[in-house]
Amino acid sequence: MAEGHRFATHCVHAGALRDSHGAARPPIYNTTTFAFPTTSDLRSAESNPHDTALYTRYGSNPTLFAVEKQLAALEGAQAALVFGAGMAAISAACLALGRGGIVCLGNAYGGTLGLLSDQLPQLGIATRLLRPDQGDQLDALLADGYGLVIAESPTNPELSIQDLHALTAQAHRHGARLMVDNTFATPVNQRPLDLGADLVVHSATKYLGGHSDLTAGAAMGSSAVIDEVDVWRRQLGQTPAPETAALLGRSLATLHVRVREQNATALRIAEAMADHPAVERVHYPGLPSSPDHAVAARQMTGFGGMLTLDVHGSLETATRVVDGLGLFLNAPSLGGVESLATQPALTSHAGLDRGERHRRGIPDTQIRLSIGLEDAEDLIDDLVQALEGRAADRRV
Ligand SMILES: *Cc1c(COP(=O)(O)O)cnc(C)c1O
Repeated sequence: MAEGHRFATHCVHAGALRDSHGAARPPIYNTTTFAFPTTSDLRSAESNPHDTALYTRYGSNPTLFAVEKQLAALEGAQAALVFGAGMAAISAACLALGRGGIVCLGNAYGGTLGLLSDQLPQLGIATRLLRPDQGDQLDALLADGYGLVIAESPTNPELSIQDLHALTAQAHRHGARLMVDNTFATPVNQRPLDLGADLVVHSATKYLGGHSDLTAGAAMGSSAVIDEVDVWRRQLGQTPAPETAALLGRSLATLHVRVREQNATALRIAEAMADHPAVERVHYPGLPSSPDHAVAARQMTGFGGMLTLDVHGSLETATRVVDGLGLFLNAPSLGGVESLATQPALTSHAGLDRGERHRRGIPDTQIRLSIGLEDAEDLIDDLVQALEGRAADRRV
């Protein structure tokens, strides 16, 4: 893959692996091990696991190499690792880089919050979770020696924006590293490594996979940082099956087309919902009225396919709206071709008490939408009929 190509070209061609038949797509090397003509060849493969096929759990399998080259190109990284799940990437990264202490700033994925509050402390790793309004405590923790900062932007579920450039500078002043979970934005809209971050992680289960049919994760960064994470992936056995890696590579080829369309549809829906009397607040960083719009416009080239509504009323009102939707599926997860609706207070953030949710900007009346690839007007019609309580059961 020649350097200097643009994003869409990387999506299609990065990692190309032409076999002796000229296969247009990388073949699936569905094998656990690879044989060598001589012991000396085997020993040289062992010393060069990033380039030579050897053993699939190590990640040294040509199908995994191919998707990792694609993943690295999309985030502008020197190197990438593919994982069996987003949580595998996040946990390996925390174990590799977080032993000096980890601070998570702002809202984050529930699994990440759980790992930081329960499992990692059991291993003696110091962790701190700072609410969005506690950013002023970060400097003191970094001065205390916490070595890894974790942030998401846009955040789950209220889609607020963290200034990644400023956060990198703050972490680096103290010799700490910044890891960004870029699942919600995708590299189509935001490239944290270009803003100075040290590591990017993804739940590839979401937009990178894009069709709600695979579970995978990814980590991208400099070769030095990726080498630190690689040994944990290997020893914890977190590599995906070659079939899954190939399916992810297939999906990445269309990432830019899918996400650009999802950006456009989400903005169109955000504008329509902002004018609806049953909606108290629309959270979408692409709306010029959003308090985070200026920072978002500086660090993002598109605003994503996630959109969150606070409706007037109560928890039960929000449930009635979600249950009244016919086209949106009532399901957790995000980033697929089908639109989804969830209530954070009952799903992803049910583990927090109500007061803590409120302090984190997650009212009971919140509904999080993942916008798929359906027609924007059909989605708006569905939301309007559900908000106005016109639903019988119209589920498709
Ligand atoms: C879903 C998700 C994860 C976890 O990914 P899995 O693939 O389910 O392990 C991590 N971060 C964010 C932002 C997510 O949405």
